[in-house]
Parts: sequence; C-alpha cells; structure tokens
Amino acid sequence: MALVIHCDCGTPVKGMTEDELVENAQDHAKNKHGVIVTWEQALGLAEREE
Ligand SMILES: [Zn+2]
Repeated sequence: MALVIHCDCGTPVKGMTEDELVENAQDHAKNKHGVIVTWEQALGLAEREE
C-alpha cells in the first residue's frame, strides 16, 4: 500500500511513507508549478492507494 496525491495537473505523486510523499509532493509542486506546499497541505490531499 502506498500513499498518493492526485495533483490538479493530473500527475499522481506517490510515496511509501508520509515523509516520502510530502517530500515528493513538495518537489513536484515547486518544480512543476512554482508553488510551495506545506506539510499539512500535502497530507490533507493524500489518499491511500491499494
Ligand atoms: Zn502537478
């Protein structure tokens, strides 16, 4: 089981742990969208993937 955030741009950002997911989400948001995402924002969007 992994965690995933479905970004508005259609990209699924994944991580095996909350730490990894938030890190990947922050990288994606910054590199692709020029946006800074907080830890709370990222986890608020996270869903469990089977
Ligand atoms: Zn995106």
